[in-house]
Amino acid sequence: MGATLHACPTCALAVPAGFSYCPRCRAAAEERPYDPDEVDRHERQYVLSLVVLSLGAAAIPRLLRSRAFSPGAKVLVALLGLANTGAVFGIGYAFFWRWLPEQAARVRAGLGR
Ligand SMILES: [Zn+2]
Repeated sequence: MGATLHACPTCALAVPAGFSYCPRCRAAAEERPYDPDEVDRHERQYVLSLVVLSLGAAAIPRLLRSRAFSPGAKVLVALLGLANTGAVFGIGYAFFWRWLPEQAARVRAGLGR
C-alpha cells in the first residue's frame, strides 16, 4: 500500500491514490462535519470479505492495519481467515490425494490394467 497522494480536484485535499472518492467532499455533500480520523463506512465489509471470502489468511495483515475492528474482532476475523485457508488446503488435499487417485484406480481396474 503506497502512500502516494493526489489532490482532490474540488477541494484540493490530499487523498490516497487508491481512493475513488474524497472523504471531505463526501462529508460536505452529506452535510456533516469532516472528520479526518473517520473510518470509511465500507471498510469493515471490505476487509471482512477479503479475509473471510476471498484471500483468507493472506489478508490478515490488512485486517490488522484496519481501524474498523476492535482487537477482539480482529482475533475472531483472523481465525475465520485461517479457517478459510485451512479449508482450502483440506479440500485440495482430499481432492488431489484421496478422491482423484481413488477414481484413477477404479478406471484402471475397469480397464483391466
Ligand atoms: Zn474534495
